[in-house]
Amino acid sequence: MTFRLGRPRFEAAFARCAGRVVLCVYGAWYANAGGVDDAAIADVGNAAEWLTYGRNHNEQRFSPLDRVNSGNVAELKVDWYLDIAEPVGLVSTPLVADSVMYFVDSRNVVRAVDAVGGELLWTYDPEVARHAADRMRIAFLHGSRGLALWGERVYVATVDGRLIAVEVATGRPMWTTPTIDPSKAMYITGAPKAFRGKVLIGNGGTEHGPARGYVTAYDAETGEEVWRFYIVPGNPADGFENAAMAMAAKTWTGEWWRTGGGGNVWHGMTYDPEFNAVYIGTGNGSPWNRRIRSPGGGDNLFLSSVLALDADTGDYRWHYQTTPGETWDYNSNMDMVLADLRIGGRDVKALLHAPKNGFFYVIDRRSGRLISAEPFAEVSWASHVDTETGRPVETPGARYPDGESVRVTPGPPGAHNWPPMSFNPVHGLVYIPTIHEAFAFSDEGVDVGRWRSPDWLAPVPGGGHGVAIRQVPLPPDRPVGTLQAWDPVRQRRVWEVAFDTAWNPGTLTTGGDLVFQGTADGDFVAYHAATGEELWREHMGLGISAPPITYGIGGRQYVALLVGWGSTPATSGGHDNYRLGWAYRGHPRRLVVFSLDGKHTVPASPLPAPPLPLDDPELVVDEDLVGHGAEVYGNCRMCHGGGAVSGGGSPDLRASRVVLSDTAFDAVVRGGALTAQGMPAFPALADRHLEALQHYIRRQARTALGLDPVAASAAADVPP
Ligand code: CA
Repeated sequence: MTFRLGRPRFEAAFARCAGRVVLCVYGAWYANAGGVDDAAIADVGNAAEWLTYGRNHNEQRFSPLDRVNSGNVAELKVDWYLDIAEPVGLVSTPLVADSVMYFVDSRNVVRAVDAVGGELLWTYDPEVARHAADRMRIAFLHGSRGLALWGERVYVATVDGRLIAVEVATGRPMWTTPTIDPSKAMYITGAPKAFRGKVLIGNGGTEHGPARGYVTAYDAETGEEVWRFYIVPGNPADGFENAAMAMAAKTWTGEWWRTGGGGNVWHGMTYDPEFNAVYIGTGNGSPWNRRIRSPGGGDNLFLSSVLALDADTGDYRWHYQTTPGETWDYNSNMDMVLADLRIGGRDVKALLHAPKNGFFYVIDRRSGRLISAEPFAEVSWASHVDTETGRPVETPGARYPDGESVRVTPGPPGAHNWPPMSFNPVHGLVYIPTIHEAFAFSDEGVDVGRWRSPDWLAPVPGGGHGVAIRQVPLPPDRPVGTLQAWDPVRQRRVWEVAFDTAWNPGTLTTGGDLVFQGTADGDFVAYHAATGEELWREHMGLGISAPPITYGIGGRQYVALLVGWGSTPATSGGHDNYRLGWAYRGHPRRLVVFSLDGKHTVPASPLPAPPLPLDDPELVVDEDLVGHGAEVYGNCRMCHGGGAVSGGGSPDLRASRVVLSDTAFDAVVRGGALTAQGMPAFPALADRHLEALQHYIRRQARTALGLDPVAASAAADVPP
């Protein structure tokens, strides 16, 4: 294990800070040099700041700071906090530069805060409710996962596809550039990536219409496009953009371009200054079912891959495909961590990747060659990965080849989704928020030959994926979520903590032998990095969906966390998330910052309380209308939850008085009365659609009131 910067440098940094109040250590030095650049982002010794999504270009989420450590973390107290008045999801990684913290919420509002005192310095609101229109329906509540810093600017990408440069000193927008065609079913929830004077951004949309994923690099100064790389080939009749697309086209069959192909880059992007490469984690196929999008089979490059591109030109360098011919939503969009490892007696420039498909990959990033891959969760779709060929050895029948229902692990949410893992180079361990779920796949009843891609946002019975999925329970003694410490060299689990919630947020690890992670049920916890022993726990009053960060200013180490239940569990709803009791508007959202010198505790929040469904005893529920209403509800499910059971990111409609009033319901649903709050208008719905929705929602409410309150909430969540 190599760790270039030893402790003396950090101690020296702190020593230089002594006596200075606000600006100190490396932060001020970089600010004087003209703002954030590659040297600053790459410098793992710059512990005063957190300059990019994963802290450094290596995306390790490791800070060498050790003022807070395994011996004293029990003394950690609230130093300051900032309440966020709006009922927004907070899922982003805050950035810290020059003693100012920047973060973004689910409506893409950017806030700058004094990282020492907690004073709000400015707010920039890109007004996504006004720009996003129907796009809100698929992306609004998932929330932005982060920002990028370069020079004297902070960059935010909005759900409606704009990339905006904002001046760090003032919060004033400097330029705005559209990155997607507004007629396409695309949106952005990811953090931009800044390197070498460029800002890179992808998009999501694989599940929502014909989508052909791509990433685009823009000039950080001007917003001009520098290069664009498509993830999958287009129609050969139009000619291929480059040799890589011609190569990829040989791995597709039929008329794949009609469904777009997919591959959208909605999350993981890592810049590697040692090789001047960017690594792109690519999305799943569109639609999920390969029999539809590529009926003659094929690997379908570059779906579900790690793709290495030249950082200056966007030219193809190499790829490693984690799931050839994917057909289970096994995208490879998860974070990619760079680490120097010693494996089998030689030094390896490694890329570490734990995608949805359940294998932990160690890849040689000079060449893209697979070094090793082992399952970090139950994997039933493949028996193992052949390290000679680099390919998975699939389990017979896993592709639901005859339409029958097949139990598959991991499920579409993956064994690991976007909540980032961290890597501690001192202990040589990766800390992975892990999901353990099983789903049944079937394309029985889907007319594979005549399947058409769904219109932009039109709800398709059975989902727009060309396959029906249904969650199936795990054995009762098996946890649905865990935090795992994984040794990437030996490819084995070292310790594990079990949770009774599947989705838990990303992790932070430090030179103080610590791992920090929030939980879906509202605790913030510190573990010993080597053993997993729990050392500190604080209840935050609301479910946590964001990863923590740490930074050091003036000799004080701060640990910061956004507390604001959001993203998939808050919006997809269902039993597990409803019972947590994080009702919409029920609990304050806030930024909380801890230190050993803190004097405060987390302010009290209302106790968790799932909303109580209402009944309208006058209404005679019509079962025919309920059936029709269940179909219309496909428009609502993405935010209000499967089975009308909300996860807390939006109102639970069974408990909504708006639904009980014909006039109020019409004003909100068709009239757009709550557009500013994130509820889009549906002017095209007919009277009978509204009535059917009301009957469906009342039936769901009565079922909940009469018997098991969640019995009707079994509709499967759609993961990102
Ligand atoms: Ca997907």
